[in-house]
Amino acid sequence: MHDIDIDMVEMTLDVVKYAINRITQTNPELGKPKTEAELRRLVGETVTNSGIGGEKAFELFRQVLVKATVPIDHPRHLAFVPASPTRAAILFDLVTSASSIHGAYWMEGAGGIFCENEAMKWLVSLTGMPEPAFGVFTSGGTAANLSAIVVAREKWRKNPRNINQKGILITSIGAHSSIKAMAKVIDADVLLVASEDAMSQSALEAFYDKLPETEKERVFAVVATGGTTNAGIIDELDGIANFCRSKNLWFHVDAAYGGGALAAKSVRHLFKGIEKADSVTIDPHKWLFSPYDCGAVIYKNPEEAKEAHAQEGSYLEIFKDEGAHGFNPSDYQIQLTRRLRGLPLWFSLATHGTEKYEWAVEQGIKLAKIAGELIEKNPLTELVREPSLSCVLYRRIGWSAEDYRNWTYRNHESGFALVTPTKWKSTNGYETVSRFCFINPDTTQKDIQDILKSME
Ligand SMILES: *Cc1c(COP(=O)(O)O)cnc(C)c1O
Repeated sequence: MHDIDIDMVEMTLDVVKYAINRITQTNPELGKPKTEAELRRLVGETVTNSGIGGEKAFELFRQVLVKATVPIDHPRHLAFVPASPTRAAILFDLVTSASSIHGAYWMEGAGGIFCENEAMKWLVSLTGMPEPAFGVFTSGGTAANLSAIVVAREKWRKNPRNINQKGILITSIGAHSSIKAMAKVIDADVLLVASEDAMSQSALEAFYDKLPETEKERVFAVVATGGTTNAGIIDELDGIANFCRSKNLWFHVDAAYGGGALAAKSVRHLFKGIEKADSVTIDPHKWLFSPYDCGAVIYKNPEEAKEAHAQEGSYLEIFKDEGAHGFNPSDYQIQLTRRLRGLPLWFSLATHGTEKYEWAVEQGIKLAKIAGELIEKNPLTELVREPSLSCVLYRRIGWSAEDYRNWTYRNHESGFALVTPTKWKSTNGYETVSRFCFINPDTTQKDIQDILKSME
């Protein structure tokens, strides 16, 4: 659709100018949501028979709609898992769209898939998984976890005894919500080991040993977390790997958030055992500075993934021909047509080099340490637990759940910061506490001090 006229030229310049401005802003306005009714009142009807014109639509986006979104790369956005895509990666996201490449099959996407695979080689090297381990980029951690677990389940179902059985997956209560959601998709049961802190080999073993024989037979996988989203806790990966090997269970490591920390020498040792995994999830759109959306799934044995995921179809056969020989990303995860999601990461890695990534990840860990010290020094606050990876859980002494909530809204409303509360298990049930998660290397010590000051 090459609809070029003079208005389109204007609009192209407008859009590119906006994009350049936005990626050079290190302190974007902290937007906040409005109700749908209010947005409608402000922008009116935008999809009409003859169109409202690009200039008008873009103006509404800039003046109203984008202000009703939260820029997650804001240096004082420390809620959930923030993001901080590099300029190079964002620019290449634009290039990825402009290039119109189908990323499913080598036949059409060879040059782009080559680039994705270069970035993937680096990710695989971070895990230390031995050859022939390899992976593909997905839409995110949820899709990566689902793709991996489908492979695990298919492998388990190869045993005729399991064909009509509902599988069981064991994980910990610290696991991400997507594990339960994905188990629903494949109709598997989930059993949770109750370890708010790291899941250990002994806790897992004790849990497994207590299961009735009929349930033991149904267990096909264990999902450990390489950096819980809430607190940055890394399960005892090495021990869990050994346990899985002894019971012939699939070992998946969900490192969607924490995986970026594999690049940081100061904490790499905490992931010992990840190299023994059957599959690993890492989200470059979390801690590897890629724009949304970009996840990754890596398999110890990609052939197993291909057996589970390769799609058949008469119009697809051409892609399997000799002439189109090469790596077909659609064979290794749940999606067929796909954007070349790894391309922005590749360009950014090629631009900056991997040392810059190491530095940027270490910066997040350093910020968590600094926050920990400031919290301990402040008479009004205390740590709930030592900072882990780039997550810090702390309490404002004397505050109720309602106080945290009001404080969050106050700071967001004034456009100052977005820091949200979470829950943590204490002696008398779950307690509401405050949480920082650092990703953006542009966050400063002063940002943290100012946020703590807003709790006075
Ligand atoms: C964020 C996260 C996910 C889900 O990833 P999406 O990219 O949001 O789909 C899964 N697991 C963990 C540990 C996460 O932090």
